[in-house]
Amino acid sequence: MDRIARAALGAGRDPAAVTLVAVSKTHGQAAVLAALAAGQHVFGENRVQEAAEKFPLQGTQLHIIGGLQTNKAAQAVLLADAIDSLDRASLADAIATAAQKAGRLPQLLVQVNIGDEAQKSGVALAEADSFIRAMRARFGANLAGLMCIPPESADPSPYFQRLAAMADEHGLAVRSMGMSGDFEAAIAAGATHVRAGSAIFGARMVAK
Ligand SMILES: *Cc1c(COP(=O)(O)O)cnc(C)c1O
Repeated sequence: MDRIARAALGAGRDPAAVTLVAVSKTHGQAAVLAALAAGQHVFGENRVQEAAEKFPLQGTQLHIIGGLQTNKAAQAVLLADAIDSLDRASLADAIATAAQKAGRLPQLLVQVNIGDEAQKSGVALAEADSFIRAMRARFGANLAGLMCIPPESADPSPYFQRLAAMADEHGLAVRSMGMSGDFEAAIAAGATHVRAGSAIFGARMVAK
């Protein structure tokens, strides 16, 4: 998408270093197929059940981006190429068990509750460093990076910068940050993946 390339070039970054995760939640498989035909290969879904209605789909990579219930971990491990919302030890246990059984382990991102908001999922800031270290020890190179959703009302840039710094400290390459409304700021702060839904598929009929 043009906005991503412009934002990357404006920030002095290579547009190819930013992957667009097209968030297809609430849109049917027809919309996914249309995007695929237009050259979009990486998709994001926030509910495993809904994702299973559209994926797996040849030629696509699927990211599970939403808060993941432990009892959905096995299905997510079978279906997804990446789980971007690893945020607690019980979920890590469920993913590890499922991966052992399935013989496949998706790429994993630790979701950090970067604004320390009570209602948000993600590991709390105070526990982030030790949790990231533990996940690195447990999953090795499959722990690829970090993900965050900054507080809605604030300027997102300091939050994006904080996540990027945390990824740097831990030597993690992937930074999934920025959505339709704020991905330019995320790209300026070093996002490698931006998750855009409404900017690609149009407004969602149902809030999710
Ligand atoms: C829905 C969703 C997005 C995409 O939101 P838009 O504002 O439509 O771009 C990104 N990340 C997560 C975790 C989401 O749930």
